[in-house]
Amino acid sequence: MDELRSKLFYEPKNGYDRIDTQERLALEDYCRDYMAFLNDSRTERETVRNAIAAAEERGFRAYEPGMALTPGAKVYRVNRDKSLLLAVLGKKPLSEGVVIAGAHADCPRLDLKQLPLHESDGLGYFRTHYYGGIKKYQWLTIPLELHGTVALRDGSTVDVCVGREPGEPKFVITDLLPHLGAEQMKKPVSEAFTGEGLQLLIGSAPYAGEGKERVKLALLSILNDLYGITEEDFLSAELAAVPGFEVCELGLDRSMIGGYGQDDRVCAYASLRALLDVEAPERTCLCLLADKEETGSEGVTSMQSEFFDFFMEDLCAAQSVEPRRCFEKSLCLSADVSVAYDPLYPEAFEKRSTAQLNHGVGVLKYTGSRGKSATNDASAELVAELRRIFDAKGVVWQMAELGKVDRGGGGTIAKFMARRNIDTVDLGTPILSMHAPFETVSKLDSYMTYKAVLSVFQD
Ligand code: MN
Ligand code: MN
Repeated sequence: MDELRSKLFYEPKNGYDRIDTQERLALEDYCRDYMAFLNDSRTERETVRNAIAAAEERGFRAYEPGMALTPGAKVYRVNRDKSLLLAVLGKKPLSEGVVIAGAHADCPRLDLKQLPLHESDGLGYFRTHYYGGIKKYQWLTIPLELHGTVALRDGSTVDVCVGREPGEPKFVITDLLPHLGAEQMKKPVSEAFTGEGLQLLIGSAPYAGEGKERVKLALLSILNDLYGITEEDFLSAELAAVPGFEVCELGLDRSMIGGYGQDDRVCAYASLRALLDVEAPERTCLCLLADKEETGSEGVTSMQSEFFDFFMEDLCAAQSVEPRRCFEKSLCLSADVSVAYDPLYPEAFEKRSTAQLNHGVGVLKYTGSRGKSATNDASAELVAELRRIFDAKGVVWQMAELGKVDRGGGGTIAKFMARRNIDTVDLGTPILSMHAPFETVSKLDSYMTYKAVLSVFQD
């Protein structure tokens, strides 16, 4: 019976029981690099900039139409500093299709409004409009940094970054003390904290002299000294408050990684790194880092923009291939985090169908919510192809689902890739506390996400 059981049953195994010492060391090396990348990449612009720097170091060049695209050529194209496409040309022509790993570089954050600065009872504030899905209370009483870009009337831009360098000040959103919080705590969490209430405390010392709004004046004077900007320049600025925690190892055993923005920079880094490490692939491989995924993939830098199609048209034109002939034979891994089973909240999950920490990269045949609405449901044949590749290459992986049926759900860029007649499947690192200012992943799962993407690139 035991023999029959082990033959017929499917039992997922912990990844640590499936890797050897050598792989354990490779995993630690990989995670060290990932943590450094994550620590320095707190906005989509910073992520794209750091990705380009890493790619150029490995021989990638900015693509110009007309460039010779011989096997092994490494090119990239950036879209308005916010999204990025990178490609390594394969030995086979583009008519054989390409292999794409697509992740997103934007993360939930608190964007400053276009007229953010005000003074209230001697304290200076920035008003915000949150970006992406957040639980508002999580953003109170934590260290926040200010990152972004101010575009000036003359066409020049000024990059702003306060709080990242050691010794620089940070910012905070205050909360009511528990002694006076009885009324607040009676309210449902969804009502106790408002979007307008998410205001950043940015200063308190008045400008010397007499008159109104001296704190605001002092703050503008500091900003003017630092960046040469005035209040009017906020009108054309993209500034965001992002969590100011250092990326770190978690747990006595250091088996996990804590940090801001791991949805989806853990998959963005895995996809990028796999592309940088791929050697002489058969088919052309692409890494794409999309923007605006957290707000529904709308807009010119999102996955619904034709930027991707135009880049592919250029590549295909160089080989006299019709793009649709390329797309219909292509494969896209929509690399985005999935939820990891959290024993503290068992009611949210159907355990057997949920990814578990340290059980490897998660594959989601479908996402969506309430009756698979808005999902890209990958075909059984496509999932079977991944089973073949992952098992042959020793990738630790598991099937995943985003929560109980009818409980909620989520989407990724997958459906927008599939719309292009590209076979697409969701795959990603299981994560705890998704969308919180400080998210948790396991080192093993992060490494296996990279290994999964590389194995498909190298297939
Ligand atoms: Mn995501
Ligand atoms: Mn997300």
